[in-house]
Amino acid sequence: MASRRRLPTLGLALAALLAACGGARSDRGTGVERVVLVVCDTLRADRLGLYGYPRGTSPRLDELARESVVFDEAYACAPMTVPAMAGVMTGRFPQEVGVTPGNFRLIPAEVETLAERLKAHGVTTAAVVSNPVLTKRGSPVPGGFEQGFDHFDARMSQREKVRTAMWERPAHHTTDAAIDWLEGARAEGNDRFFLWVHYQDPHGPYTPPEVYAERFAGDHQDSRRVPVGPDKLGRGDIPHYQNLDGEQRVDVYRDLYDAEIAFFDEHVGRLFDWLRDHDLWEGTLVVFTADHGEALGEHEYWFCHGENVYRDVVRVPLLVRYPRGVGAPAAELGPDGVRRVSALVGHVDVRPTIESALGVDPGSRRGRALIGADVPTGRVLPQRLLPDKGRAKWEALSDGRYRLVWHEEEGRHRLYDVLEDPGETVDLAEGNPGRVRAMLDAFKVYEAATREGRAAQAAEAPMDAERLEMMRKLGYVDGEDAEAPLDEPDGASSGTDETR
Ligand SMILES: [Zn+2]
Repeated sequence: MASRRRLPTLGLALAALLAACGGARSDRGTGVERVVLVVCDTLRADRLGLYGYPRGTSPRLDELARESVVFDEAYACAPMTVPAMAGVMTGRFPQEVGVTPGNFRLIPAEVETLAERLKAHGVTTAAVVSNPVLTKRGSPVPGGFEQGFDHFDARMSQREKVRTAMWERPAHHTTDAAIDWLEGARAEGNDRFFLWVHYQDPHGPYTPPEVYAERFAGDHQDSRRVPVGPDKLGRGDIPHYQNLDGEQRVDVYRDLYDAEIAFFDEHVGRLFDWLRDHDLWEGTLVVFTADHGEALGEHEYWFCHGENVYRDVVRVPLLVRYPRGVGAPAAELGPDGVRRVSALVGHVDVRPTIESALGVDPGSRRGRALIGADVPTGRVLPQRLLPDKGRAKWEALSDGRYRLVWHEEEGRHRLYDVLEDPGETVDLAEGNPGRVRAMLDAFKVYEAATREGRAAQAAEAPMDAERLEMMRKLGYVDGEDAEAPLDEPDGASSGTDETR
């Protein structure tokens, strides 16, 4: 039996992990004049050329990637629009700012948003959003995503084609609205701004313009047919809001999803062209991501999100185009000429990145600025879907290679190696209890280290020496020894399930 030293406190583990979690830092004088944050709703990273998809869905984003840093393992906090975007705009877990469950609880008025903080520092703020759940829809309740925006354009220009009660704005109108605002800002001589443009197109129903639908109508490799279901869940059947005239062939839906991406890509390209043509590209930090992904049949979930926390719905594309003179994090140059970071990052890193770029102290939050330093290894980030309307809770932890997935109905953890098994089909939990517990422990440390008032939190929580050693061996302390074999023996102590 290993000798029992005096138990270290969680504070010791914290000291080792604080660098990995990232504290407050400021990069005043970075040379960034403005930030354009582009978000595309419901866009899976693996459907983009820059992440290896071969169908030509994203030539304009692929072009942007060649002058950016691409983050290969980036995660949303949640698989639904409102909690996911609350993670982006607050830099915190959505549930801790009161935004969960579902899409109906918007950011409370007392929570300071990214736009509010930038506006307070003299940055003009504008948003063009094309998903109706991002607006207060006339609600008299204070708060919402509108907070802090000098200009908030949520004019939906057409009804959706299947769920006709919903309005949306397609990509060409979204780009036009963004350019309208940019023209006005330019006329006023205002070139220091934060602009958030939120596209909606890949969100179901998949109804791209006909020319795109024709371009992506492919040879179907997957001959499966799935019935249209009675609800919006998509579990084993097609959600009713996706129903395209009773169509059951799954590859027809997948083709149309790809076509929606291509339509969006062409029009986001026009936004980038406008910035280049008007000499605004050079000093612009561009951040591109999605709010969440989409299940395209994985785990028998069809054309839906917000129903589980598997990787296909919480992994997101993330790329950052750093203006000249702004320190991009260390990245590897791939054979395609794209600089890539494989370490885990998340939506919680977006806000501190934007704040740092504009010279605003990001303060203490869950994420860290992806500017000027190595992206830390050893982090563990959560993705959650809290109970809502009878739906059981889902939680996941990602470390950049492994993912722990827990569903309340099942009551146990599943462990996946997403490098070897990106679709999360082979559960490794039974043979690797050490890694399961080390990930839970590492999350506990990260959670405490990034909570407000962390010094007080860190003082007392005891950490068993063996568990700390297990974390170190498996790469969750200082990023050391990340290649430790999977078949570590089980440790002696029992863990509490902090992710529940
Ligand atoms: Zn969404």
